[in-house]
Amino acid sequence: MSSSEELHKRRVAAVARGVGSTINSYVASAGGGTLTDVEGREWIDFASGIAVTNVGNAAPKVVEAVRAQVERFTHTCFMVAPYESYVAVCEQLIELTPGSFEKRAALFNSGAEAVENAVKIARHATGRQAVVVFDHAYHGRTNLTMALTAKNMPYKHRFGPFAPEVYRAPMSYPLRDGGLDGPEAARRAIDVIEKQVGAGNVAAVLIEPIQGEGGFVVPAQGFLPALAAWAAEAGAVFIADEIQTGFCRTGQWFASEHEGLEPDLITTAKGMGGGLPIAGVVGRASLMDAVHAGGLGGTYGGNPVACAAALAAIETMRELDLVTAAQRIENVLKSALSEIPDIAEVRGRGAMLAIELVKPGSLEPDAARTAAVSKACHDAGLLTLTCGTYGNVLRFLPPLVISDEDLHRGLDILREALRN
Ligand SMILES: *Cc1c(COP(=O)(O)O)cnc(C)c1O
Repeated sequence: MSSSEELHKRRVAAVARGVGSTINSYVASAGGGTLTDVEGREWIDFASGIAVTNVGNAAPKVVEAVRAQVERFTHTCFMVAPYESYVAVCEQLIELTPGSFEKRAALFNSGAEAVENAVKIARHATGRQAVVVFDHAYHGRTNLTMALTAKNMPYKHRFGPFAPEVYRAPMSYPLRDGGLDGPEAARRAIDVIEKQVGAGNVAAVLIEPIQGEGGFVVPAQGFLPALAAWAAEAGAVFIADEIQTGFCRTGQWFASEHEGLEPDLITTAKGMGGGLPIAGVVGRASLMDAVHAGGLGGTYGGNPVACAAALAAIETMRELDLVTAAQRIENVLKSALSEIPDIAEVRGRGAMLAIELVKPGSLEPDAARTAAVSKACHDAGLLTLTCGTYGNVLRFLPPLVISDEDLHRGLDILREALRN
């Protein structure tokens, strides 16, 4: 196999510069907590391919299910000739997501596509156009989802014009909110919506229950339920974007459960497919079924190989009780991180945790230190990611099947990187 250096040369000559990578080492194999590069160097994985490989990068059941399905058939297009596994994945989404009402689901290829479709459904069902999103939100890279995403660099810069009828409300960000509690922060957001959009114009309120790329911001308790209650009152669809938070990641099957939320629609992707590209929208039957036949779909949405992988990944999550595994990871990481000095905040839930770094004695974001710590982790063999509007958040997303040993080895590297 070529060396990482050789591969990097080929990459620079062949792959568009706009597609970046966190590290310049090329992967040869990966398991349930480590990656091995082409030089045989091992990396402890605190990234999970951005919260995707909750069951690991090569979960035995997923591997077996994919192999078996590929041998049977790779594609027919569900819109042309349907097959059982698509239906079975929708049944699982209905069963696993919060919401005691009757539900329907539909499958897509990527998170952005799921978000686009949730907005299509909400607009169609309500006959309204406005979509309310929040500061620091991330919803994807397609044209509509760029408009829904808050941050200019790198996601939106010079990619406009963006889709219209998207309105941004203030988020609950406890570290930077000067003591506003959840209901007060919701009131602030609702004021903006009522004054600038008008309750009767809102098709959907779209929010990540814990923000992902925006900095792993956990809204103050009561913020989400107050927004959901307002949306219900206003006749707007409350959409939880659980693409990063779903499938056991936060110590519940879905993060909405932490506050007893029953979103009208939920978008899922990432952890759902055990590494294969698959996404879904699930929610109230009355909304989902409002759309005319043929109004939703796509050539590859709910591809049979991806469906087989998703069913096997979900079975693995149940069998290994990855909800509890995520809670255990939270306990280990949170107690270790809270002992480290000079961290503004340790936050998150389950195996979706982050630290925010600021300049001493202030709330001024310290992006330079964050980048330096991240680089030191990479040099020492720990794969971590940064995030946040200000680039000053280090996030930790280990696979939920990571061994205690790898978790502690990763923590040791992180501690050392923060100390220096
Ligand atoms: C990753 C992500 C998306 C976009 O998913 P893609 O599969 O990359 O299109 C949307 N919303 C949230 C919250 C995400 O974390």
